[in-house]
Amino acid sequence: MKLILVARRPETADVMSFMFQSDALLEWQAGQFLHYRLPHPDADDRGITRYFTIASAPFERQVMLTTRFARERSSSFKRALRQLPVGAAVDVGEPDGDFVIGDPGGEHVLIAGGIGITPFRAMLLDLDHRDLPINATLLYANRTPDFTYRAELDRLTGRHPGLVVRYLVSPERLAPPAIRAVAADLAKPTYYVSGPEPFVETLGSMLSGLGVPDAHVRRDYFPGYDWPPIDEGGTA
Ligand SMILES: Cc1cc2nc3c(=O)[nH]c(=O)nc-3n(C[C@H](O)[C@H](O)[C@H](O)COP(=O)(O)OP(=O)(O)OC[C@H]3O[C@@H](n4cnc5c(N)ncnc54)[C@H](O)[C@@H]3O)c2cc1C
Repeated sequence: MKLILVARRPETADVMSFMFQSDALLEWQAGQFLHYRLPHPDADDRGITRYFTIASAPFERQVMLTTRFARERSSSFKRALRQLPVGAAVDVGEPDGDFVIGDPGGEHVLIAGGIGITPFRAMLLDLDHRDLPINATLLYANRTPDFTYRAELDRLTGRHPGLVVRYLVSPERLAPPAIRAVAADLAKPTYYVSGPEPFVETLGSMLSGLGVPDAHVRRDYFPGYDWPPIDEGGTA
């Protein structure tokens, strides 16, 4: 399937969203991802394909890809993506992945590390659009106060009394007290953890240490990023 780039939108100083129109009917569930193929000259060892979450909810119809650009030494793929002209096509596979909200009426704890926020934008906008009550706490850790989608998230919290968003800026880290505060009974909610691989691993161990059953933890791993950021120019 081909996606045509129709627009791009800066989100923060180093995060950009790309909006695509599909050339065929494309149906997906909020939280799923696509596999992109973007051939380009002088591809580096990371190659010409990548996975990206569909950061838009299905009702938005366009596919939104949101990604962070490294300040130094972006991969050749990211350089090619950044230079992609409006009207150009990229190849994608079918939407895939089970990092989706199974029970919209349940209690959810969403935990995002940096650009790992992308599936949560899709999930929360989807619930909002379907007029479902949102019963969720979002713990959103970032290396700077420049939080991707902050205005959209704040608008959603204004509309849904059951949605709480807690922003944590580096050097403040997501630690057990912040998690203990999300629910009286930590074994009750379903936890969705999304972000750089080391972030997801660390949070998974933390939840397990707090007595959260593994069956209640869903994970979405973003490879290729460091966490915590190695320096001010870090990528997470
Ligand atoms: C299911 C799934 C969903 C995902 N969703 C998203 C998403 O919504 N948004 C998103 O941004 N990512 C997402 N990812 C991760 C994405 O696929 C990339 O792995 C990630 O964006 C890193 O991109 P990059 O490899 O092009 O590196 P870059 O972002 O360009 O760089 C990342 C870091 O690697 C270093 N680096 C760059 N090139 C090289 C190289 N050739 N060799 C060694 N180091 C290098 C850079 O200096 C930087 O520190 C997802 C991954 C999966 C599996």
